[in-house]
Amino acid sequence: MRMPGKCMENKLGGYLEANRERVVGLLSKLIEIPTVNPPGENYEEMVCFLEKECKKLGLSTRKYVTPKNVLDKFGVKGGSRRISLVADLNVGANKTFHINSHYDVVPVTDKWKTDPFKAVIKGNKVYGRGSEDMKANIAGVLFALKALRCCGIRPKINLQLSFTPDEEIGGRTGLGYLVEKGFVKADYAMSEGYSGNYISMGNKGVLWAEVEVIGKSAHGSMPHKGVNSFERMNAVVNELEKLKSKILERKTRYNMRDAISKKPSFVMGGFLEGGVNVNVVPGMTKFSIDRRLIPEENIEIAKKEIEDVIKKFNAGYKDSKVNVKFVSQGSPAISRKDNAFFKIAADSIESITGKKANFSVMPGATDMRYFMWKGIPSLGYSAGGGEKWHSDNEFVCIDSLVDTAKVFALIMSRLS
Ligand SMILES: [Zn+2]
Repeated sequence: MRMPGKCMENKLGGYLEANRERVVGLLSKLIEIPTVNPPGENYEEMVCFLEKECKKLGLSTRKYVTPKNVLDKFGVKGGSRRISLVADLNVGANKTFHINSHYDVVPVTDKWKTDPFKAVIKGNKVYGRGSEDMKANIAGVLFALKALRCCGIRPKINLQLSFTPDEEIGGRTGLGYLVEKGFVKADYAMSEGYSGNYISMGNKGVLWAEVEVIGKSAHGSMPHKGVNSFERMNAVVNELEKLKSKILERKTRYNMRDAISKKPSFVMGGFLEGGVNVNVVPGMTKFSIDRRLIPEENIEIAKKEIEDVIKKFNAGYKDSKVNVKFVSQGSPAISRKDNAFFKIAADSIESITGKKANFSVMPGATDMRYFMWKGIPSLGYSAGGGEKWHSDNEFVCIDSLVDTAKVFALIMSRLS
């Protein structure tokens, strides 16, 4: 059906407003399937549930199981089979708009006031693990499609949804696998990101390192017989602090929602290991580095900066050895700019929130990077709550959930 823009917007908005309780109901059901990762639980149950919902909407569905060699390659052990669901609404257009959601959630933290796997509704909020990250989007996207269907609006572009596991452990065995294998098609893509009038168009890069300081253990009463790896670690940390200061002088030219995030970051000691007992001179100490790169930085250079500090340090101490191992890495990702897509997204957000849309780079990486690295125009937008992703008492605001469904419905109906 062809209808003027504002009329269509009112119709879709009206449908979603009238169905607020049902959107919340769907979200509640999703929260109550605990897809905790690691290790990755109840994936089959979740995919089975989502497949039924997609079929009710007239979508054709297919499933992919990530094979063992891919799981092994990325160190994914235990838990459910890694299943991804892809659902298509093919309208015979040349282009496809892909919307991805990850359905896994992080484990429960320790100070929840309610049962994290029971959706608890209080006023404008729905509490539950995964409510904000990112099961609200799943409910919102499915209801956006439902709104289109019930309002008799046929999209001008093919729509493809994917529901993938393992975003919370890097996504290489979820969406990363689908993109790599070419199992999904996207001329434009969306997934999670900022909320309200902020929309994400990229993310920082990530480099994780493990630094091992090898000294020599000895009896605590005779420290001269050993080399204290903890004290040596302290010295190497001091050197790395100097590198950190240098790194923190850099600033991206891209828009970031929070000014502080315009700088790269460098966190040491998130993981720390070593020492066996009070009366033993420690012979080995290990710590981690979590280095986030702004879009202008490069992973290989970031590695070399760390390696150079360590090389110089080792040259100064013949009785100890510091080794660095890079355990995970991902380049910064920026969406290719597509003026029409960006404008439709901005207009849709502006008409729903009443505020000017703001395109920003996020500090944290999401699965959107798999599309961005392929040069596909990709944006991240999410229903928001308290930004308590991964923490206690995570919640999503119902107003934001419904508004996000409206935004997705508008983009689906306007894109061609
Ligand atoms: Zn997420």
